[in-house]
Amino acid sequence: VVDLGMPTRTVLTTCAYCGVGCSFKAELRGDELVRMVPHKDGGANEGHSCVKGRFAFGYATHPDRKLKPMIRERITDEWREVDWETAIGYVAERFRDIQARHGAGAIGGITSSRCTNEEVYVVQKLVRAAFGNNNVDTCARVCHSPTGYGLKQTFGTSAGTQDFRSVAKSDVIMVIGANPTDAHPVFASRMKRRLREGAKLIVVDPRRIDLVRSPYIEATHHLQLAPGTNVAVVNAMAHVVVTEGLLDREFVDSRCEDFDSWAEFIARPENSPEAVEEITGVPAAEVRAAARLYAGGGNAAIYYGLGVTEHSQGSTMVMGMANLAMACGQIGREGVGVNPLRGQNNVQGSCDMGSFPHELSGYRHVSDDAVREVFEKLWDRQLLPEPGLRIPNMFDAAIDGTFRGLFVQGEDIAQSDPNINHVHAALSAMELVVVQDLFLNETAKFAHVFLPGTSFLEKDGTFTNAERRINRVRPVMPSKIGMDEWQVACEIAKAMGYDMHYNSASEIMDEIASVTPTFAGVSFAKLDKLGSVQWPCNDAAPEGTPVMHVDEFVRGKGRFMQTPFVPTRERSNRKYPLILTTGRILTQYNVGAQTRRTANVAWHGEDVLEIHPHDAEVRGVNDGDVVTLSSRVGTTTLRARISDRMPVGVVYTTFHHPVTGANVVTTENSDWATNCPEYKVTAVQVGLKNAA
Ligand code: SF4
Repeated sequence: VVDLGMPTRTVLTTCAYCGVGCSFKAELRGDELVRMVPHKDGGANEGHSCVKGRFAFGYATHPDRKLKPMIRERITDEWREVDWETAIGYVAERFRDIQARHGAGAIGGITSSRCTNEEVYVVQKLVRAAFGNNNVDTCARVCHSPTGYGLKQTFGTSAGTQDFRSVAKSDVIMVIGANPTDAHPVFASRMKRRLREGAKLIVVDPRRIDLVRSPYIEATHHLQLAPGTNVAVVNAMAHVVVTEGLLDREFVDSRCEDFDSWAEFIARPENSPEAVEEITGVPAAEVRAAARLYAGGGNAAIYYGLGVTEHSQGSTMVMGMANLAMACGQIGREGVGVNPLRGQNNVQGSCDMGSFPHELSGYRHVSDDAVREVFEKLWDRQLLPEPGLRIPNMFDAAIDGTFRGLFVQGEDIAQSDPNINHVHAALSAMELVVVQDLFLNETAKFAHVFLPGTSFLEKDGTFTNAERRINRVRPVMPSKIGMDEWQVACEIAKAMGYDMHYNSASEIMDEIASVTPTFAGVSFAKLDKLGSVQWPCNDAAPEGTPVMHVDEFVRGKGRFMQTPFVPTRERSNRKYPLILTTGRILTQYNVGAQTRRTANVAWHGEDVLEIHPHDAEVRGVNDGDVVTLSSRVGTTTLRARISDRMPVGVVYTTFHHPVTGANVVTTENSDWATNCPEYKVTAVQVGLKNAA
C-alpha cells in the first residue's frame, strides 16, 4: 500500500549536492521529511532535478551520524563523548598551547564547500581573527583554485560569466573537461534542449562522454586529446583564430589589452594545430574546424570542469580559454562566456567568502592595506598582510614539524586529497586534528576531537551556485546537534579569547554585505523577496547580475595572457605505461559520504576501472576482473570494465569509495599557480590481481 497522504508543511530550500544549486520544496508530514519536490520557480532549475537532489537526502537522518562531541588524547584511544562546553574548552586550550610552544602560525583551518556562506565566513574569521594568522584554505584548493587565478588575471574576478538560462541563446557550445550529464545533470538538460534545437557542440575530453553521442545529439567535433594537453589544444584553436583572421577586431580593440604581444606569441608556428598534433593526438584538421566553428558559428559559450583545472597547467588553461573567448568577442552578452561548472554546492561561495589564504572576502588580497583596514576596524583585530599556508603547504609543514594543529570543517581530506599516504603522514604528525562533520569520516581516523555538524536540512543560510546565484537554505528540521553549525566556530573563538557573536545567520550575511562590495546589496530579506540574486548585487545592480562583463570587464580591460604549453612532468614510461584520469558518475557524489548513506541500492556499488579492449587484452584482463592499479606513489585494487570510451593507453576511474581509494595512486604534482592537484594525469600500470 502506498501512502499518498498530503504533506502538512513545506519548506523551500536548496540542494546540497552539485554547483547547479537546484531549489526544492521539502515536504513534511509532521516532523518527517517525506519528499523533495523540485521548485518550479527555482532560478537554477525551473522545476527540474536529478536523482541525487530528489532522492538522496536520507543521509541527514542516517544512524551513522554522530551528534555528540568526542575527544581522545591519542588516535589509538577509544572516543569518549563529552558535552559541548568540555569539547570547545579542550580545543581552545590545545590550540592555545600549540601556539604558545610553536608560534601563532602553527595552527590553521580548512573551510568546506559543503557549508553555507555564513558558516564558511565565520570559520575564516576564526582563523584570521582568533588564531591570528592567514592559514585558512578551502577544499576548492583541490578543484577550482585555477579558476580563481585564471579568471581573475584575465577578466578581473573569479566567477562564471553567465547565468544558466543564457545557454538557450548559444549557437555553439564547447564543453571542455566536464561531464555535465553525470556531474551537473540539471544544467546538462538545459544544454541538451538547446543542442536538440540545433546548436552545435564541441567536446574537448580524452573520454567519449555521453554528450558526444546520445539520442538526438551528436557532437560536431570531439577533440579526444591526450590527458595533460589541454593548453596545447586551446592555444592551437587560438592560433587558427589569429592566423586565419577570424578575430573580433572591434571587441579586441575596444575592450581588451595586451593583445599585440599575445597575438605575436600565439601566431608562432609551434602553437599551430599541425605542430602539436603528435602531442595532443587530435588531428590538426579537426582543431582547425573546431576553431572556425567557435569563432564564426554565432554565439559560442565555453563550459568547463575539473578536466581543465586539475592539471599542472590548470591556471594556464583557464587563461587560455579566456584568451580565446576575448579574441572572438564571445563575452559580455547572453549565449557566450567562460563558465566553470562547480562540483560542490558552494564552491563559488566558499571562495567568495575569503577562504583562500591570500584573499579576504570578495577576492581582495590580504596585502591590500585599505581592504585589510576595513576588516581590522570591524573585527577589532590586526590582520597579517602576508598570505598563509595552502592545504598542501600545511601537510608539508606538518611533516617538517612546524604546523601542529588543524581544524577541518566538512571535508574528508584523508580520502579526497592526492597522494593519500603523504596526507595520512601529515595528519599523523599533527598534535591536534579537529574534525567537524556529520560522520566519522576517513579524516576522523586521524582526529583527536570530533565535533558534530549539521546537514543541509538543519541549516539556515545561503549557498552560491556556479552561476553566482545566492540561494537561501532554510531549516527543514531542528538542528540535531543542539546549535547552529556556525555557532561552533564562534564558541571556539570565544574560548580562545576573541568574542565573535551573532544572533542569527542573517546577521552574519549582513556583516558579509558590509565588508564585501559584490555582496553589498544582499540580505536575507531581499533573498526571501526575490527568491535568489546573482552577485554582484549592490547599488549598481540591486537585483543582481545575470551576465558579467557586459560593457567593461571587472578589471576594466580584459587582459590577454601568454599561455605557453609546458608538458606535465607526469609521463608514461616502461614501468607505468598508461595514463589514469578520473571523474564522477551520476548516482554518486564525491567521496560518497552522503550518497553511500541512502536506502536506495542504486547508490551502492564500487569504483571501477575503465580500460580500452586493447590495453585489457595485452594484460589478460577480462571484464569484471579484479586488477591492481599502481603508480609511483601507491597501489590499489578495483574491478575492470572493458570500454572503448577511453583511447588506447588511457584508463579512467571514479573516486567515490574509500575502499578502492583512487587517490592512493594520484601524485603530488599540482598546478604551478595554485597547487591544485593534478588528479587528471597519473602514470599507472594495471595488472591482474594475484597474477604470477
Ligand atoms: Fe542537486 Fe545538482 Fe542534481 Fe540539482 S543537478 S538536484 S543541484 S545534484
